[in-house]
Amino acid sequence: MTELIDTRTPEPKRFIAGASDDWEVIIGLEVHAQVTSKSKLFSGASTEFGAEPNANVSLVDAAMPGMLPVINEECVAQAVRTGLGLNAQINLRSVFDRKNYFYPDLPQGYQISQFKDPIVGEGVVTVSVGPDKQGNFEDIEVGVERLHLEQDAGKSIHDQHPTMSFVDLNRTGVALMEIVSKPDIRSSDEAKAYITKLRTILRYLGTCDGNMDEGSLRADVNVSVRKPGGDFGTRCEIKNVNSIRFVGQSIEYEARRQIAILEDGGTIDQETRLFDPAKGETRSMRSKEDAHDYRYFPDPDLLPLAFSQAYVDSLKSDLPELPDAKRSRFIDEMGLSAYDASILVSEKAAADYFEQVAEGRDGKTAANWVINNLLGKLNEAGQDVENTSISPIQIGSIIDLIKEGTISGAIAKELFEIVWEEGGDPAEIVEARGMKQVTDTGAIESAVDEVIAANPEKVDQAKEKPALAGWFVGQVMKSTGGKANPQSVQALVKQKLGIE
Ligand code: ADP
Ligand code: MG
Repeated sequence: MTELIDTRTPEPKRFIAGASDDWEVIIGLEVHAQVTSKSKLFSGASTEFGAEPNANVSLVDAAMPGMLPVINEECVAQAVRTGLGLNAQINLRSVFDRKNYFYPDLPQGYQISQFKDPIVGEGVVTVSVGPDKQGNFEDIEVGVERLHLEQDAGKSIHDQHPTMSFVDLNRTGVALMEIVSKPDIRSSDEAKAYITKLRTILRYLGTCDGNMDEGSLRADVNVSVRKPGGDFGTRCEIKNVNSIRFVGQSIEYEARRQIAILEDGGTIDQETRLFDPAKGETRSMRSKEDAHDYRYFPDPDLLPLAFSQAYVDSLKSDLPELPDAKRSRFIDEMGLSAYDASILVSEKAAADYFEQVAEGRDGKTAANWVINNLLGKLNEAGQDVENTSISPIQIGSIIDLIKEGTISGAIAKELFEIVWEEGGDPAEIVEARGMKQVTDTGAIESAVDEVIAANPEKVDQAKEKPALAGWFVGQVMKSTGGKANPQSVQALVKQKLGIE
């Protein structure tokens, strides 16, 4: 449909490993993202996930004779917001078309979609790919061809009855945004990074929950291979891939399959394929010859969608800060490393949490605590930031206790564990459980003396090898239950051992 131009510059070279010669893989994704809205695209029925089958079906969704679609303004606003978030052209006039086909879960006999005149035109997504073996990230730009609004179909259920199929129309008519990328993607890693970034942007915007388990986000993956610099090869389209990992696996498999055929002197048939996660393979579903002629035409029940630039501008001024801007701010204004900033912005909830911890504190310290302690612990516990029981105020308070010199870093880790397990005010816990750092030099001194007295041979060694002072510091920290001020211990150990 669209004339294919290689829009990706500079020309990258990414080859499939294991092939006898160099092949480049070309990928374009069509991502279906369910619009976050209370009701469907053209009816007032609820979009709630997990309702009883056929509980959320209006007369419009069931395509009762004479029913007319009425556009849901919120879905339109969500599509425009998404277009703006993808740095894309917003088309002030767009048209809804009928895409005609028969399927039991599509009672209208056609899907209302947008064909020639979509609501959003060309855009671009900056994607950070990596880290590679050297730990480096590379920023690439993936072009967006278009974004259009369309209805989702219902669900046929074939495994509930020996001789009958059931149909659940709850999803029928729910608004989808189809986001079509240009064929700018050159590896499975790039494809995974692109869809991850897209999902992050949608979640920041609040226009799609990005929940792939519930089918809110799914991708058709187009794959072809070519000799570097040559013309685009024939593509195959892998339908409805529903996890990021499967996107990667299906590309790896499909590229190798195509290369094997071409190296054998064969040709690629343009076809639609399915990915089988159990086997890790793609298999043919239908060939180009079976492709539907959808007989698109403008839906006579709907006027073209038209809005003013002022409307677009007002939506634009209400957009939240997006991940790229947030990342730059974390680096430039809060002093974070690019790596830490990337980790924090990848999830809006993590970024928000971090900002609350960092409020009035050192940004780097706050980032360390959120990334190394909180995110680490959440990962271990299989929980996420949204519903963690430990609050930014509690973590902030632990950081303050270290800064004031009330507790040592070692005790802080212990304190974090206690607050994680039991909750409570960190300062009160420190008080109640006697976790305060010992700054009383007398007490530290006697602890140092004890360790020195108990280890005469180490004392002799340390005089030859001053680095051994660290061993003494460790012993003293141990004997004081981590409560001694490490700087004081260090100074005293060196003084008593007579080393600099
Ligand atoms: P259709 O609607 O028939 O699927 P489109 O022109 O909308 O066709 O393209 C669908 C997707 O296929 C786009 O994401 C595009 O980037 C991608 N694509 C097109 N040509 C190729 C190719 N040779 N190799 C890989 N992907 C391709
Ligand atoms: Mg397609």
